[in-house]
Amino acid sequence: MEAQASILVVDDSPENLQVMAAVLKEHYKVRVAINGERALALAAAPEPPDLILLDVMMPGMDGYEVCSRLKSNPATAGIPVLFVSSCDEEEDEARGLSVGAIDYIIKPIRPSIVQARVRNHIELKRSRDLLQRLTTQDHLTGISNRRRFDDYLEMEWRRAAREHAPISLISIDIDHFKAYNDHYGHPGGDQCLIQVAHTLAGCITRPTDLVARCGGEEFACVLPNTDSAGASNLAEMMRKGVLERAPEHAGSATHSHVTISLGVATMVPGVDEPVQKLVDLADAALYEAKSAGRNRFVVKQR
Ligand code: GH3
Ligand code: MG
Ligand code: MG
Repeated sequence: MEAQASILVVDDSPENLQVMAAVLKEHYKVRVAINGERALALAAAPEPPDLILLDVMMPGMDGYEVCSRLKSNPATAGIPVLFVSSCDEEEDEARGLSVGAIDYIIKPIRPSIVQARVRNHIELKRSRDLLQRLTTQDHLTGISNRRRFDDYLEMEWRRAAREHAPISLISIDIDHFKAYNDHYGHPGGDQCLIQVAHTLAGCITRPTDLVARCGGEEFACVLPNTDSAGASNLAEMMRKGVLERAPEHAGSATHSHVTISLGVATMVPGVDEPVQKLVDLADAALYEAKSAGRNRFVVKQR
């Protein structure tokens, strides 16, 4: 069964919070916040809510401000916000919608209407989340896919150019994987891909780093704001991590277990320089790592 959706209700009046919770608790996991600061913290915490019901008039930070802040933070921008307010003028509602709310409910609330609207918005949120997963996740390993990698690399490359900051890319390829498939069969190969993907993903610590499966047995890692030394450290962690956990590889010409080769590239992008240059540099480094005997990384920077 699908997990229960969670709803965050924000209101400065404890009685209002109680009424709302009573209306929603039968079908949803309900959390409450008594002011804007608390709401922002809960929205950005792990396991964020699927929907936020937000009061407009609150002492301190009002609902408009809370909504604007939620929408300007990439981590919370995707959470739909419904205003619940006693301000029933056209301009109040228009302002609520203009700061990014998806809907506006007028107090005093009518329970059946609130339940119906919440149900609709939760359903929409669920389909959006699913679509998002399908378009950005690799179906075999669950890590990011090629599309997500391309988009993210391009975005971070441009950011690095604006900020004159270094950006690193690690190209990763499993060694002698064709022989692995030939020896253990395709399903065995798939299990190996999953294991390697999880090991690589487990090496990442910064929220801005991204590991993706770019195709077949090729992976890549985008490291914004990371210099050559930092990227090399991570490459070595990945190489070791795979070696420690990898299954046996009886068909490998170079090692008893599954290994990876890595190409590490670092650049500070010039204005209007194409991201392909970084990709080419990482691929050239990977090629050298393969030629030099595999199970190693080669570093290039410019
Ligand atoms: P190298 O060390 O030079 O990288 O050799 P390699 O055998 O790993 O490289 P090659 O590119 O020749 O072979 C890659 C193999 O990866 C070919 C294919 O059998 C396998 N492969 C690609 N995609 C999948 C997949 O989704 N599942 C499985 N099981 N195998 C795959
Ligand atoms: Mg390979
Ligand atoms: Mg390959």
